[in-house]
Amino acid sequence: TTHVLPQRVTILGASGSIGQNTLDVIERHPQQFQLHAISAYNNVDAMLESCRQYQPQRVVMVDTDAAQRLHQLLQQHQLSDIQVDSGAAALLDIAGNSDSDIVMAAIVGAAGLLPTLAAIKANKRVLLANKEALVMSGQLFIDALAQSNAMLLPVDSEHNAIFQCLPSAAQQQIGQQQLAEHGISQILLTGSGGPFRQTPLAQLAKQSPAAACAHPNWSMGQKISVDSATMLNKGLEYIEARWLFNCQRHELAVLLHPQSVIHSMVQYQDGSVIAQLGQPDMRTPIAYSLSYPERIDSGVAALDFTQLSQLTFAQACPQRYPCLQLAIDACWAGQAATTCLNAANELAVEAFLQERIGFTQIAEVCAQALAVLNVAEPRQLDDILAIDEQTRCFVREHLRSVAA
Ligand code: NAD
Ligand code: MG
Repeated sequence: TTHVLPQRVTILGASGSIGQNTLDVIERHPQQFQLHAISAYNNVDAMLESCRQYQPQRVVMVDTDAAQRLHQLLQQHQLSDIQVDSGAAALLDIAGNSDSDIVMAAIVGAAGLLPTLAAIKANKRVLLANKEALVMSGQLFIDALAQSNAMLLPVDSEHNAIFQCLPSAAQQQIGQQQLAEHGISQILLTGSGGPFRQTPLAQLAKQSPAAACAHPNWSMGQKISVDSATMLNKGLEYIEARWLFNCQRHELAVLLHPQSVIHSMVQYQDGSVIAQLGQPDMRTPIAYSLSYPERIDSGVAALDFTQLSQLTFAQACPQRYPCLQLAIDACWAGQAATTCLNAANELAVEAFLQERIGFTQIAEVCAQALAVLNVAEPRQLDDILAIDEQTRCFVREHLRSVAA
């Protein structure tokens, strides 16, 4: 494929961990990539800094007051030709308008669903970090992709690794592959087990937000860090992999790998296993998804194999990680369940971060929301948004009764 260079990039969720890493990679390749637009919820300081450093044409702050403050600050810094907008409509506009070629979907949580779908419908090259969008909308997301001329590249390190280990024919059919026809027997999704992998089970309940966010290998936003500690992140990734690679149940398995050197693997029918290895640095999958099928410098150092002492593997313990099993069960129960689980978890994690509930209550809240869920399978986007909202209402009420 030939592209008109430079390609114009929009970053949704630019103030976050993935967003900032994306800016870092783009800056290394000014001939190839030009920043069109960036968005954030309300982090004015981060966006001012990014405007000064990277000079996008447009900025969207979802929060109106934040947009006003940023606008004033940009004027003070002689950057008034950067257009600042606010609100959900502006976010959809930068996701789908014709002024960009590539959209990095790096908003956290359900808030990223509509803008990510807008980018797909607008036939962009969509770099998907926002796993919650796919977890919520599943088949609808894959159908929208199939009906568009968009190209989806997974940024989540595991899914990016799996993508790299697929034959190119299977890479061209995201969400539609018949894995067995490509000689694939199983996808092995690896996960570190998070900061509490060796914490005595009896001490899990009293773990603090700071401890949960101290991931041993990766530096990430708060929500995904807590999800990594409960391993609901691996559960969301399991659902994400099910959709991206059109897996059947026996074709997908989770494996603990505490060193995070192997980022996931594909096992073939002939006994071969292909793995992708690298430093735990998101700039590698970000660079890959920006430049695919070519390779560019990401700023990440090569692995030094002589410094690796060992690579170990184990099964995830169900007593330690009840959220993982909740997600696997939800995955095969259907899309109402996965939408419900995602919404319940978002509120439970928020309550945990605010110290309104304890660490082990995250799983309890999710299990409770799934237990009372009683709705038909969603058939369209409105159904999904209704299940999301209904779950949030239930969980808010439930949190009032359980929170200390
Ligand atoms: P983060 O919390 O650091 O950043 C989130 C971004 O989303 C910020 O720019 C924030 O302003 C924006 N945002 C938050 N709420 C919003 C709302 N309601 N409307 C619009 N924008 C909103 O998160 P992150 O760690 O960068 O993760 C982003 C996404 O990428 C998540 O879905 C996460 O699961 C996924 N991901 C992250 C990593 C990682 O290493 N950080 C790895 C794999 C996948
Ligand atoms: Mg991941």
